[in-house]
Amino acid sequence: MRRSPTPTDPFATLNEQQLAAVNHRGEQPLLVIAGAGSGKTLTLACRVARLVLEGADPQRILLLTFSRRAAHEMARRTGQVLRQALKLPATAAPPHLAWAGTFHSVGARLLREWAPRIGLNERFAVLDRSDAEDLMALVRQEGGYAERGQRFPLKDTCVAICSQTLNRQASLNETLTSQFPWCAQWEAELKQLFAAYTHAKQCQGLLDYDDLLLYWWQALGDAALAGACGARFSHVLVDEYQDTNRLQAAIVQRLKPSGAGLMVVGDDAQAIYAFRGAEVRNILDFAAGFTPPARTVTLERNYRSTQAILDASNAVIALAHERHAKQLWTNTASPQRPALVHVLDDAAQATWVAEQVLGRREEGLALKDQAVLFRTGSHSAALELELARRHIPFVKFGGLKFLEAAHVKDLLALLRFGHSLRHELAGFRALQLVPGIGASHARRLLATLEQAALPLAALRNFKPPPAAARDWPAFAELMTSLCNEALTWPADMAQALAWYLPHLHRKHDDAAVREADLQQLQHLAGGFGSRERFLTELALDPPEASSDWAGEPLLDEDYLVLSTLHSAKGQEWKAVSILNVVDGCIPSDMATGQREQIEEERRLLYVGMTRARQHLQLLVPQRFYPSAQARLGDRHVYGGLSRFIAPQVAACFDHLAPAGASHPPPPQAGVLPIDLPAQLRGLWG
Ligand code: ATP
Ligand code: MG
Repeated sequence: MRRSPTPTDPFATLNEQQLAAVNHRGEQPLLVIAGAGSGKTLTLACRVARLVLEGADPQRILLLTFSRRAAHEMARRTGQVLRQALKLPATAAPPHLAWAGTFHSVGARLLREWAPRIGLNERFAVLDRSDAEDLMALVRQEGGYAERGQRFPLKDTCVAICSQTLNRQASLNETLTSQFPWCAQWEAELKQLFAAYTHAKQCQGLLDYDDLLLYWWQALGDAALAGACGARFSHVLVDEYQDTNRLQAAIVQRLKPSGAGLMVVGDDAQAIYAFRGAEVRNILDFAAGFTPPARTVTLERNYRSTQAILDASNAVIALAHERHAKQLWTNTASPQRPALVHVLDDAAQATWVAEQVLGRREEGLALKDQAVLFRTGSHSAALELELARRHIPFVKFGGLKFLEAAHVKDLLALLRFGHSLRHELAGFRALQLVPGIGASHARRLLATLEQAALPLAALRNFKPPPAAARDWPAFAELMTSLCNEALTWPADMAQALAWYLPHLHRKHDDAAVREADLQQLQHLAGGFGSRERFLTELALDPPEASSDWAGEPLLDEDYLVLSTLHSAKGQEWKAVSILNVVDGCIPSDMATGQREQIEEERRLLYVGMTRARQHLQLLVPQRFYPSAQARLGDRHVYGGLSRFIAPQVAACFDHLAPAGASHPPPPQAGVLPIDLPAQLRGLWG
């Protein structure tokens, strides 16, 4: 008979396969490949605890994963299990794992350490994706590429081509042929452009996201450094391995070439990042990449969801083009089947979901136990209004990025420029915040700073144009102060904010709302040890939403989670609602071009459904607004149930149609529920 678990024994409930992975010994690398909710992350956490109990130093255990939220979840759960395993009181803070994070954030830390050895500027700044696009735009313009005809790819396409090439470890030609055939004619120019982009980054001491991986991988090409780095980490464990790209897999390989001390866990049926260059073959080919091959453990029992939810999820993935031969089972009884809820439109969907959330709360489910998931950040707009109207607190993950808001970028540009006066991109933005300084003056000054032996003196000697004469001195003072190394963080933030606030109010009518964001940022700043750490981590780990990101007080209270399907990875809730399960949304109309894209959307729905523990509902609005613009003009299309809910899948659900929505006929096998592209074309007819 199984022992009942005590809070201090995290291993007591593990099943045989999980224990096999947790207690694995020897040099052989370990692969755990298993379906959703089968305890992969738990097994990884327990293995860390087992290793520590057997004498491994937690500071020498490296935990990696792809996305920020998954990294957070992995670190949180590992800390929790470690605390139990070490028999620390439940009130004690979980032991700190110094090296748990995303590939990008760990890469940034290691590169910062190695900088002097590998020819990197120690004060390098990290560019987020939109900064990288801005820099690419600058280089593109300076190189005259913009004038070579209209069809030269735009900045975001250029960044995407560059990024895909590097992350897939492909040649530019391969990337263009397979992913961007319409840009293939520009191969030679793109090569030059990327070289100029690389040069610009290096001159300014900047690394973009891809550089963090690329430099890391390149550095590990040096035998001495690779040996030291491999020895520094006794164990390397990777969660969500199916989301890694080739470059990340290559880094792991260089860290642990023999595979000793290596464990990866993942689920090929949950691969949803191919669009960013993830390579599902990484996990499928992992075992064979070593001699002898990695030990493979599979887990089939699901501990998360009820059988009815699993049946529906299994039915969705069973129709996938590639076979994911895992049939999950559980012995959690299902008092209720999942529901397909047919509603009239966006507004009815919002009302229904808000009422359900409140109803479940009355039944004893905290808001935190419930989540609403959607394909794209903008799809929750109507629901957000409804929740606000009913005073239901929520936190949204995914969607509008905090760092993309102009005011946040302004403040960060000031701090970055103050940190390094050679940071041209930040300087270009920061200087133009001074009234009277435009692009040409900013460029001229930046060119001077680049040449100057003492950039700060050059900045102080700058003669501003007459229109800027009044405001320039205060700006020069601010920069002088920010360049002073004696200034202690976060005092720099306070100074930059004090200088910026009057300009914020001058520039924006809605300054009060924006000011609240900046205060939020200042509050966050306090949690970082230094300006450098703050700027790096923030570029890698931005708070997600702007303005509607609920303030601090909410975080202690109960709140509903709103999340994109991508950001829901690795999480679970007792009740999950998925919005807009209609063709055009899931699959997204952006993704209906290629079969692989459609398959990725199917796995995305599978990821969403397998987040639910007890209650799952899929919302199917009959009228669907394809975009925010269409909503403004009240242009809607009649959506149809997602093609992924074929009849045999629909049979796993209860069908509900609240008042106002007619119950649509169940879809017929083999018939596309709806030709949305044709309807969209019809909008303009
Ligand atoms: P995903 O594929 O979504 O990342 P996963 O395979 O990582 O899922 P976990 O998140 O580790 O799965 O586990 C799912 C749930 O099942 C968690 O609540 C976990 O605590 C629970 N669980 C896992 N294994 C066991 C077990 N042996 N006994 C009891 N509960 C378990
Ligand atoms: Mg997991």
